Amino acid sequence: MSVLDGRAMAAQIREDLKGEVSALRARGVVPALAVVMLGDDPAARAYVRGIERASAAVDVACTVRRLPADAAHEDLARTLDELSADPAVHGIILQTPLPPQIDALRLGARIAVRKDVDGINPTSAGHLLLGLPSYPPATAAAVMEILRRAAIPLRGRQAVVIGRSAIVGKPVALLLLREDATVTVCHSRTAALHAVARGADVLVVAIGRARHVGAAFVKPGATVIDVGINEVDGGIVGDVDYDAVAPLAGAITPVPGGVGPLTNVMLLRNTVAAAREAASLT
Ligand code: NDP
Repeated sequence: MSVLDGRAMAAQIREDLKGEVSALRARGVVPALAVVMLGDDPAARAYVRGIERASAAVDVACTVRRLPADAAHEDLARTLDELSADPAVHGIILQTPLPPQIDALRLGARIAVRKDVDGINPTSAGHLLLGLPSYPPATAAAVMEILRRAAIPLRGRQAVVIGRSAIVGKPVALLLLREDATVTVCHSRTAALHAVARGADVLVVAIGRARHVGAAFVKPGATVIDVGINEVDGGIVGDVDYDAVAPLAGAITPVPGGVGPLTNVMLLRNTVAAAREAASLT
């Protein structure tokens, strides 16, 4: 069994990105990411601090636009319009969670597709579906990056994705399909979930249920990618029962230290690509 070490992979990508950013800066292009956040949710604040640190580590400029918690939909929309039109900004992220007065889907549409580095504009989702160029949601990109770096074969293999959210399950399923895997998407109403999951050569789990997926869900030798982040007793655990599944799996991501560390790095990689694209240096 091999442990798929997301931290090591992220470090490698950061090194590559640093080189790319310094080449862009030498040509006068400063890759820049803008984060828009509403209110002062502690989890969102911690996440944004993580993005700022990750940006600094690869020399990407990161600015945070904080709006008051009671900001109106139109205030946010105007901010996204401004950033979309600003040639000095290459990537835009709208930080969640958003309060109920805000319609995230409608707002996502205000982020220019070429700057939509977390793939939340419905047009980006449409591009992903149609196989047109777009940035997939960063977590989905992180899952695929792990599979690619670990050289896990996908063509003709059975892939099962548990979870069908717009930011993880569905885009991962589309990206796996693009790699010629045979993809099954499961959700909370799937009958005999463990039996379906046991057919997988590659099992991706994104359900938000601590240690829900145990040995009965896993075919011996399967690759298991655990996207879950659940707080249990002050620590973080995945959606997969790691201790039960690891002895069976061919390869598995730990939590923490698997998908998580790659997610921010994917946002930055997309931002650098967007900067390169904007400067027509590709
Ligand atoms: P959502 O809550 O949006 O979606 C959960 C999905 O899982 C739904 O499709 C739901 O089915 C399905 N589901 C829930 N319970 C079960 C069950 N018992 N059996 C089968 N399917 C089930 O979650 P997200 O996709 O946003 O996130 C999933 C997990 O990934 C969370 O732990 C989250 O914290 C983590 N995450 C990690 C990130 C990272 O960077 N590593 C980034 C984003 C999320 P239905 O549609 O029928 O309700």
